[in-house]
Amino acid sequence: MQSSGNSATNEVAPPGVNINVPHSARIYDYWLGGKDNFAVDRAVGEAMIQAIPGMRYMAGENRKFVHRAARDLVAKEGIRQFLDVGTGIPTRPNLHEIAQQIAPETRVVYVDNDPIVLVHARALMLSSPEGRSEYISADLRDAGSILNDPILSDTLDLTKPIGLTLIAVLMLLADADDPWSTVAALRDAMPSGSCLAITHPTADFNPDEVNTAVAAATGAGMTLVARSQEAVARFFGDWELLEPGLVPVSAWRPDTEVADPQAAYYWAGVARKP
Ligand code: SAH
Repeated sequence: MQSSGNSATNEVAPPGVNINVPHSARIYDYWLGGKDNFAVDRAVGEAMIQAIPGMRYMAGENRKFVHRAARDLVAKEGIRQFLDVGTGIPTRPNLHEIAQQIAPETRVVYVDNDPIVLVHARALMLSSPEGRSEYISADLRDAGSILNDPILSDTLDLTKPIGLTLIAVLMLLADADDPWSTVAALRDAMPSGSCLAITHPTADFNPDEVNTAVAAATGAGMTLVARSQEAVARFFGDWELLEPGLVPVSAWRPDTEVADPQAAYYWAGVARKP
C-alpha cells in the first residue's frame, strides 16, 4: 500500500488507484453501501444524490436486474458462458454466483479497466469447482483488446452462445468514442443464440433530475452520458429483443409488482442473436 499524498482525508490507495479524481466504480460502490470509495468519489456521489434523491434505489434496481437477467439467461436461454464488461467492484451475489447456482458449470469472463476493480479481481475468480470465472483488465473502447485476450479464448468457447452483459457501463463512453461500433464488434464475434443484456441511464423519465446529476459528474471531470430509448436500442443492432423489450429497468420481468417502474431512470433489455 502506498499513500496517495492526500493527507487531508488520511486515505490510502492501493498502487495505481488515483484518489484525486472520481471514478465510476467507486461512486457506484458508495451508492451500494460498499467500502471501496474515497472522499472524491463520495463528494460526487453525494452531489448526484442531491440531484436524484432516488439514486441509491436506482443502483439497487440495476443490481436486481443483473440477478433476474443472469437467472433467465441461464435457466430460459440455456446460456452457460458470460462475458461481463464493466464489472465493477465485486458486489455479492456476483454474476457467476447467480449463474452457477443454477448451472455450476457456467463460465464467466469479467472485464473492467479500473485499477480498483483489478485489486478485487481475486474475489471475482472464486468460481464453483465445475465452472470457471476469470478477469481481464481491458478497455471496452477497444473491443479487440477484449476479444484477442488469450484468457477469453481459454475460458469461453466462441462457437457456443455467450451472454454478453453491458450493465451500467455504456453511459461512461462518450458519443465521440462511438460505443455503438464497439458493441457491434463484440456482437459480431458471438455466435447465433448469444444474448446481450444492457442497462443504461436515461433522461427520458425525469430530465431535470438526470441532467443535473450528469452535470455534477461531468463538472468533476467524468464522462457520463444519459441516452434516449432510441439511442440505447441501437446497441442491440439486429438482435431480437426478448420480452418485455427495452423497458424501465424495474419493469423487466419484475419478481414483485413495482409501484412506479419509472422511478429508476434506466432503460434495460435483453436481446438474442438470430
Ligand atoms: N456492471 C456493474 C458495475 C457498473 S459500474 C453493475 O451494474 O453492477 C461501471 C463499471 O464500468 C466500473 O467498474 C468502471 O470501472 C467500468 N468501466 C468504465 N469505463 C470502462 C471502459 N472503458 N472499459 C471497461 N470498463 C469500464
